[in-house]
Amino acid sequence: MRIDGAPIHLRLDELYEIGAEPTGGAYRPLYGDAWATAVERVERWMKDAGLTTHRDAVGNLWGRAEGHDKGKAVVTGSHIDTVRRGGRLDGALGIVAGLTAVETLLTTKGKPRRALEVVAICEEEGSRFNTNFWGSRAITGAIDTVDPEIAAAMRERGLDPATVATAARDDIDTFVELHIEQGAVLDASRQPLAVVSAIVGTAHLEVTVTGRADHAGTTPMELRHDALAGGAAMIQAVESIARSLGSPAVATVGKVRTEPDQINVVPGRVVFTIDVRHADLGARRALEERIRSLSATIASERGLELDMRLLQERAPVPMDTGLRALFARAAKEAGVRTTELASGAGHDAQVLAVKCKVGMLFVPSIGGRSHCPEENTSPEHLELGTKVLTKALELLAF
Ligand SMILES: [Zn+2]
Repeated sequence: MRIDGAPIHLRLDELYEIGAEPTGGAYRPLYGDAWATAVERVERWMKDAGLTTHRDAVGNLWGRAEGHDKGKAVVTGSHIDTVRRGGRLDGALGIVAGLTAVETLLTTKGKPRRALEVVAICEEEGSRFNTNFWGSRAITGAIDTVDPEIAAAMRERGLDPATVATAARDDIDTFVELHIEQGAVLDASRQPLAVVSAIVGTAHLEVTVTGRADHAGTTPMELRHDALAGGAAMIQAVESIARSLGSPAVATVGKVRTEPDQINVVPGRVVFTIDVRHADLGARRALEERIRSLSATIASERGLELDMRLLQERAPVPMDTGLRALFARAAKEAGVRTTELASGAGHDAQVLAVKCKVGMLFVPSIGGRSHCPEENTSPEHLELGTKVLTKALELLAF
């Protein structure tokens, strides 16, 4: 099946212009003006493609082609919101590619066997409020209460926060999404496409190291209980443990606070965070355990008190094995080389997985750049990703 690349690039350009920021990039925060304009634009494209459109209670936009068979739908799409100074492809690609794929299939093959839908998910990024996966959580029926601030923004868009429960769907069989990798693995290894194996699980820890604040001039080195020097040794350990385990293990210390934070005082307390990720739950827990035990050793050697608190934990979500095989077959039939890759970033698929089979494809991000105006993928890779998505949807719905 031939995919015409031109409309993909034109539509991506059109979406990127909506909410363009003066310093580069685009910003389409949930329920904002740019967001609403983008939703309208996609709705027009859906109608032009012959799809029946529907906006649900939280503002997810659906375009549907009925199938010959009754039964659950095959859905493709992505999120329409962006981070500040967001790039041209994050989210937008999954919508544009999904729409192009469905449009191509309907034109060349006619009515599908199973209902086929394209969705523009209203929010995934935490783009405006302190909530992410808002759209996909509504689809799974996971939203019980609506924060007053979000409720007010919904009303401004003519959405009734009292009806969020009606956005829940129980009639989706499969959700597939084409997304940019947002990392540098594919680009560095010159691979054109990846079938996502799993979305990694994350643990967020908060570490408090307590020593003793003392005079920086009068306290000899051997009598100190320097919380920051101990914390620094632990931070080094976090990095070396993750490095020694290799990909896809990652561990990051992103926040450090020192007390009393004075140039002439030995630090008495340091608090830092650790973000630990792995595609395998057992491996992630093992990574966490090694960090805990090495930190405990460092603390006891230096006469420091150590407290580690789990702030948040999210289990890894494996992608459906049947869909992984189907993607591999679709890629082979389309003549595209693939590899498998775990996603280090979160995606709607991990939320939707409780309700339906989920699968994802990644195209390379040039230089691994994302969530910035430099976010880019070669036109050739965008087209080849769309081609494999189209083939996969054909195998699923026709
Ligand atoms: Zn995204």
